[in-house]
Amino acid sequence: MSGSLPVTERTRLRRRPQRGSHEMDTILRILDAGLLCHVGYVIAGEPFVTPTAYWREGHRLYWHGSAASRMLRALAPGLPVCVTVSHLDGLVLSRTGFTHSVLYRSVVVFGRTAAVADRDGKRRAMDAFLDRLYPGRRQELRPTENAELDAIEVVSIPIEEASAKIRDGGVLDKEEDLGVPCWAGVIPVRATLGASRPDSGILTDPALPAPLAGYRAGASLDEVLLAMASRDAAG
Ligand SMILES: Cc1cc2nc3c(=O)[nH]c(=O)nc-3n(C[C@H](O)[C@H](O)[C@H](O)COP(=O)(O)OP(=O)(O)OC[C@H]3O[C@@H](n4cnc5c(N)ncnc54)[C@H](O)[C@@H]3O)c2cc1C
Repeated sequence: MSGSLPVTERTRLRRRPQRGSHEMDTILRILDAGLLCHVGYVIAGEPFVTPTAYWREGHRLYWHGSAASRMLRALAPGLPVCVTVSHLDGLVLSRTGFTHSVLYRSVVVFGRTAAVADRDGKRRAMDAFLDRLYPGRRQELRPTENAELDAIEVVSIPIEEASAKIRDGGVLDKEEDLGVPCWAGVIPVRATLGASRPDSGILTDPALPAPLAGYRAGASLDEVLLAMASRDAAG
């Protein structure tokens, strides 16, 4: 998984390149800490950006949806896309209006989509999606039906042309502004999980099953997702 991706004309960071990285480990760690991406593409000269859930298998990113989705109908035959994933880590309150900023980790991936065309491939891909988020759950569920597989499209892109960018640290005020008498600093931001709400009429214990215990109230979503990704890598 380690090593650096080749830097292309599209992935060379021009603005604040010191915050950028093309290291595969860095890129995968940012991808593995999330599950929402934005897919950018062009149909008939018009730009669209669609938010959707994604998952990773090895060095490919996958997403799926209804076969009736305009995005998926356009992407299934193969189309160039730009996929972004970003995490907001903090609000940076500086001593001037223009130096207020945010802390973040983000990834940009360029690639051409490929569809998972056959039912077996879709079944495997959807199993991987469920396993990635909810270990041990698939075995308890009603088996997926062919009609369900026929009703979706699954597409993927290789993680071959990609960059990461990380803004961490704190306030970056100029020396001459340090005397401004205002509060300055960072307000950290993180997505935390709430208490689970069992559906009415469930036939099992209302507590979350043991393999999902990481989804406890107050846990950081990032950390839960990263822990599950490293479990997958170890397994
Ligand atoms: C949550 C969040 C909030 C942000 N807020 C602001 C803001 O308010 N103002 C602002 O100017 N910028 C902000 N950024 C940074 C922004 O994403 C761009 O990096 C920045 O605007 C420079 O854009 P550019 O097109 O000049 O980059 P360039 O350096 O010209 O982009 C060239 C290539 O570098 C890579 N690259 C650029 N940006 C990123 C990135 N963020 N992640 C991964 N790869 C990247 C891509 O491969 C891109 O094609 C924010 C980023 C995030 C994640």
